[in-house]
Amino acid sequence: MADRAPTEFDGHPVAPATRAFLRRAHRFLIDGEWAEGSAGETLASSDPATGLPLATVAAGSPADMDRAVAAARRAFDGGWSRTGARERTRLMTRLARLLEARAEVFTEVEVLDNGMPRAIAALTVANCVEMLDYYAGATLSIEGRTTTPPPHVTALAEALTYTVREPVGVVGQIVPWNVPLSTAILKLAPALAAGCTVVLKPAEETPLSALLLGELIIEAGFPPGVVNIVNGRGESVGAALAAHPDVDKISFTGSTEVGRKIVIAAACNLKKVSLELGGKSPVVVMPDADLSLAVPGVAMATFFLQGQNCMAGTRIFVHEAIHDELVRGLAAFADGMVLGHGLDPATQVGPLISAGHRARVMGYVHGGEAAGATRVAGMAQPAGPGHFMRPVIFTGAQPHMALMREEIFGPVMAIQRFASNDIEQIAALANDSPFGLSGSVWTRDLSFAHKLVSRIRSGQVSINCHGAIGTNIPFGGMRQSGWGREFGREGLDAYLETKAVTARL
Ligand code: NAD
Repeated sequence: MADRAPTEFDGHPVAPATRAFLRRAHRFLIDGEWAEGSAGETLASSDPATGLPLATVAAGSPADMDRAVAAARRAFDGGWSRTGARERTRLMTRLARLLEARAEVFTEVEVLDNGMPRAIAALTVANCVEMLDYYAGATLSIEGRTTTPPPHVTALAEALTYTVREPVGVVGQIVPWNVPLSTAILKLAPALAAGCTVVLKPAEETPLSALLLGELIIEAGFPPGVVNIVNGRGESVGAALAAHPDVDKISFTGSTEVGRKIVIAAACNLKKVSLELGGKSPVVVMPDADLSLAVPGVAMATFFLQGQNCMAGTRIFVHEAIHDELVRGLAAFADGMVLGHGLDPATQVGPLISAGHRARVMGYVHGGEAAGATRVAGMAQPAGPGHFMRPVIFTGAQPHMALMREEIFGPVMAIQRFASNDIEQIAALANDSPFGLSGSVWTRDLSFAHKLVSRIRSGQVSINCHGAIGTNIPFGGMRQSGWGREFGREGLDAYLETKAVTARL
């Protein structure tokens, strides 16, 4: 990636429908219609691989958020919450088929707005289709139970006690930029299946795929106001949504720092809160690990999505018996990774999201060197254009270093060597973090692996693989990585209340 003049999409062709979408006016979806912002503000979306502008998008104000929440409330009270399960399934299945039919455009828009490699974008779109189908199919499984009526009622007469599951209400969903469409759909799909109405606030950096999704939501025939989409700045429209007195729940994915602000804002009306926050996940490699699996697996645990991945395994604990061999393999793997525009099929590493974020990540690299860690991969960094960064590996990391404590959200791996074979000491290394999102253990000894997994305080731990997420598998954080779970049955539960009913017969 030498210095050179950037060209549109780096010279790669895109589908005519992608170009047509980028040229459209990008407004808000409120009450089933495309609406202008009240303050006339805009956000600029650019291609992180070239730095060139992609589109200008209307940015909302708190007044726009009021309009969106009011539309969602009308839709909730006006019938969506009582719409039959089969009708919700029908609409969601329709949306899934529309998304499937336009997968190429969604893939290209996601690559251009976010920078991720095309193959990953295509996979995320396919996963979104699966999520819509999965939750569309789950509407019929929303059910309560019967239980024993209370004694003061049965003392008087026969009685019946049962529970019903009801939608939480109007839900605000605030999402980050790292996998924009996936995080939006993984919140929208269970909310719609439950019978909630939604106001979605995409990230400033990646406003586009949600707007394209808005077009399909209209086409699928969802009643007006069931899904509303308002782009804008987090500190204005995001904060207005989190604090809104007529919102019943906030589902937030983003940084731990903003997660704290969401909790404080939500306190005004004690709305329900789900939080999917940051991580600093441990990867433990034991001496008997199969290196043919561990080298690519550990490398991708850190470098998948350029390290802009909440599940990233960035604290790598390697037993001294295997340390040097693993480090050699990881460094060769990292230095061999192909950087490029996400639209280029050969690309393995796309750009970081912005120049500011790249500067922040490089700050950790310089800080790691200053703190005494040894850089063994990613020695030379590209100058531009675009926000590219070669994967970096540090050895000699120590627990007190920022490299080991803070979420970097970039392609930076920190390796700490250990000598102990004591499971409690190894678990203590893995747990020495305020986060608890993901993690992995690499060994041929599955008994040891399961015992260690039982001691690691993370919401999701994998053995001989990393970041094993799936539509049906609950995902979320312990400790400062979040509250609640998404995906699977737990993801649907997060949008349901339980009501207990007792009838004296
Ligand atoms: P961020 O917290 O800066 O922003 C996330 C969203 O919150 C954006 O839409 C932003 O506009 C909005 N926001 C910002 N300030 C706000 C405020 N005061 N009130 C309401 N909303 C506000 O995060 P980011 O930089 O977009 O994303 C990266 C972070 O997201 C990382 O920490 C990463 O670990 C986390 N993440 C977590 C998961 C998970 O599932 N646990 C998944 C993806 C990303």
